[in-house]
Amino acid sequence: MTEERHLTCINCPLGCQLTVSLENGQVAAVSGNTCPRGDDYGRKEVTHPTRIVCSSVRVMDGDMNMVSVKTASDIPKEKIFDICRAMRDVLVTAPVHIGDVIIPDVCGTGVNLVATREIARC
Ligand code: SF4
Repeated sequence: MTEERHLTCINCPLGCQLTVSLENGQVAAVSGNTCPRGDDYGRKEVTHPTRIVCSSVRVMDGDMNMVSVKTASDIPKEKIFDICRAMRDVLVTAPVHIGDVIIPDVCGTGVNLVATREIARC
């Protein structure tokens, strides 16, 4: 069975319109991409979509009351809402340093949630 999926590449602001052709559920070709990153994105998006999650969590005793965080690498897209819920319950104590692990193995993904800015203690 032949199928086509139409996607927008999200890897850069150009936003190339991709067409992913599938044959019996397997990716046969990707077209519409301007560079190889679009080919990789199209293949992954229809088979195992992933995302990096960026957000912020609450901080106690810091010079700011929130610290920005991100997953250290891509996580499965279907875990995004679980991770957002987990972040809601987190309260870290200052100081916080860039790269500090805020939640190890967040939601069983094998990926750490890490801080992306410095928060000094006040
Ligand atoms: S295919 Fe390449 S040029 Fe096009 S949006 Fe994706 S990353 Fe950008």
